[in-house]
Amino acid sequence: ATTPESAAIEKLQEKYEAIDVSTINSFDDLPLSPKTLKGLKECGYTKPTDIQRETIKLGLTGKDILGAAQTGSGKTLAFLIPILERLYCKQWTRLDGLGALVITPTRELAYQIFEELRRVGEHHEFSAGLIIGGKDLKFERNRMDQCNIVIGTPGRILQHMDENPLFDCVNMEILVLDEADRCLDMGFEQTMNAIVANLPAKRQTLLFSATQTKSVRDLARLSLKNPAYVSVHEHS
Ligand code: ADP
Ligand code: MG
Repeated sequence: ATTPESAAIEKLQEKYEAIDVSTINSFDDLPLSPKTLKGLKECGYTKPTDIQRETIKLGLTGKDILGAAQTGSGKTLAFLIPILERLYCKQWTRLDGLGALVITPTRELAYQIFEELRRVGEHHEFSAGLIIGGKDLKFERNRMDQCNIVIGTPGRILQHMDENPLFDCVNMEILVLDEADRCLDMGFEQTMNAIVANLPAKRQTLLFSATQTKSVRDLARLSLKNPAYVSVHEHS
């Protein structure tokens, strides 16, 4: 049945193809949900950074992305906004379980992404969870089945996949490999490959990295399908 919400979602989605990346000046120029726009505004975010401008249309339309941009360029929102919008458009609820998984190399980065998601996603109803080493595994374990968006470090995520029956990825729609170059530098290549091998083949994958090395391209080959390559350099 058509509800006011599903009609509003359809209207937003109809505007995706017409997004003209070259004319986007502010987040208000993008067909984003009122909940996301409100969250962005309250965080003081008005203009997208270059990497955000270049990737958001691709992210919204479900494309796989290999995005390279230096540290501090705003890669976090380049994946958090598509996650929020994609799950919102699918009218994801707590009962749908895990919808998006974000893998990042360190606990500190995972915590920062989690906090950014809490602020920007404040008006959405999704539940989010952190799975990082050093926290009580039992506590994490029991809550896993209620999380729509999980952010974690590679070793801990694989541990949950192997040991926790409540960590159920069958519905997962979006995988983010954040700071992929650092993950590989830290020796997580096999762990990442094992995680990717456990996930549904039909999914969207967003891979972000500060640098494009051969090992990043190897990981991309294993985890992305027909990716759009986006590389943003600082203007000099
Ligand atoms: P990266 O992951 O590329 O290193 P982050 O996503 O951590 O970069 O963002 C770096 C900083 O830029 C953060 O402090 C963040 O709050 C800020 N930032 C991100 N996007 C915007 C934006 N559109 N407008 C203003 N500040 C932003
Ligand atoms: Mg980052």
